[in-house]
Amino acid sequence: MPAYHFVCGSCQAQRTRICAPEESKIPVLCRLCTGVMDRAPSAPTSQVVEVLDNGLMGRVLQRPADAERIHYEHVHHHEGLKHS
Ligand SMILES: [Zn+2]
Repeated sequence: MPAYHFVCGSCQAQRTRICAPEESKIPVLCRLCTGVMDRAPSAPTSQVVEVLDNGLMGRVLQRPADAERIHYEHVHHHEGLKHS
Protein backbone atom coordinates (compact mmCIF):
# COMPACT_ATOMS: atom_id res chain seq x y z
CA MET A 1 0.00 0.00 0.00
CA PRO A 2 1.19 3.54 -0.62
CA ALA A 3 2.39 5.87 2.10
CA TYR A 4 0.56 9.12 2.64
CA HIS A 5 2.14 12.08 4.33
CA PHE A 6 0.14 14.46 6.47
CA VAL A 7 0.99 17.81 8.01
CA CYS A 8 -0.91 19.24 10.96
CA GLY A 9 -2.60 22.51 10.10
CA SER A 10 -2.11 23.78 13.64
CA CYS A 11 1.35 22.72 14.82
CA GLN A 12 2.92 21.51 11.53
CA ALA A 13 3.67 18.09 12.97
CA GLN A 14 4.29 15.54 10.23
CA ARG A 15 2.88 12.08 10.09
CA THR A 16 3.14 9.19 7.66
CA ARG A 17 0.28 6.82 7.20
CA ILE A 18 0.40 3.67 5.10
CA CYS A 19 -3.06 2.66 4.03
CA ALA A 20 -5.36 1.99 1.12
CA PRO A 21 -6.14 4.96 -1.18
CA GLU A 22 -9.73 5.04 0.08
CA GLU A 23 -8.53 5.30 3.68
CA SER A 24 -6.29 8.22 2.80
CA LYS A 25 -9.44 10.32 2.37
CA ILE A 26 -10.42 9.81 6.00
CA PRO A 27 -9.45 12.87 8.06
CA VAL A 28 -6.42 12.34 10.28
CA LEU A 29 -6.15 14.03 13.64
CA CYS A 30 -2.86 15.26 15.07
CA ARG A 31 -1.78 13.33 18.12
CA LEU A 32 0.01 16.35 19.53
CA CYS A 33 -2.73 18.98 19.39
CA THR A 34 -5.74 17.01 18.01
CA GLY A 35 -5.89 19.40 15.06
CA VAL A 36 -6.90 18.22 11.61
CA MET A 37 -3.99 17.09 9.47
CA ASP A 38 -3.84 17.84 5.76
CA ARG A 39 -2.36 15.64 3.06
CA ALA A 40 1.16 16.77 2.25
CA PRO A 41 1.72 17.20 -1.50
CA SER A 42 4.81 15.01 -1.58
CA ALA A 43 6.96 12.78 0.56
CA PRO A 44 9.70 14.30 2.68
CA THR A 45 13.17 14.12 1.19
CA SER A 46 15.40 11.23 2.15
CA GLN A 47 17.51 13.54 4.30
CA VAL A 48 14.63 14.30 6.59
CA VAL A 49 13.94 12.26 9.68
CA GLU A 50 10.21 11.95 9.79
CA VAL A 51 7.85 10.98 12.56
CA LEU A 52 6.17 7.71 11.78
CA ASP A 53 2.88 7.17 13.46
CA ASN A 54 0.21 4.68 12.50
CA GLY A 55 -2.16 5.81 15.24
CA LEU A 56 -1.97 2.48 17.01
CA MET A 57 1.40 2.63 18.68
CA GLY A 58 1.79 4.04 22.14
CA ARG A 59 4.51 6.37 20.95
CA VAL A 60 5.65 7.68 17.63
CA LEU A 61 8.82 6.46 15.97
CA GLN A 62 11.44 8.58 14.31
CA ARG A 63 13.14 6.89 11.40
CA PRO A 64 14.95 7.94 8.26
CA ALA A 65 12.39 8.79 5.60
CA ASP A 66 13.56 5.91 3.40
CA ALA A 67 12.66 3.26 5.97
CA GLU A 68 9.19 2.76 4.51
CA ARG A 69 9.55 -1.00 4.24
CA ILE A 70 10.39 -1.37 7.92
CA HIS A 71 7.54 0.91 8.85
CA TYR A 72 5.11 -1.03 6.69
CA GLU A 73 6.03 -4.27 8.41
CA HIS A 74 5.57 -2.57 11.76
CA VAL A 75 2.14 -1.26 10.81
CA HIS A 76 1.10 -4.60 9.38
CA HIS A 77 2.13 -6.32 12.60
CA HIS A 78 0.08 -3.96 14.75
CA GLU A 79 -2.95 -4.16 12.49
CA GLY A 80 -2.83 -7.91 12.84
CA LEU A 81 -2.89 -7.56 16.59
CA LYS A 82 -5.78 -5.12 16.46
CA HIS A 83 -8.02 -7.36 14.38
CA SER A 84 -7.18 -10.64 16.05
ZN1 LIG B 1 -0.87 19.35 15.64
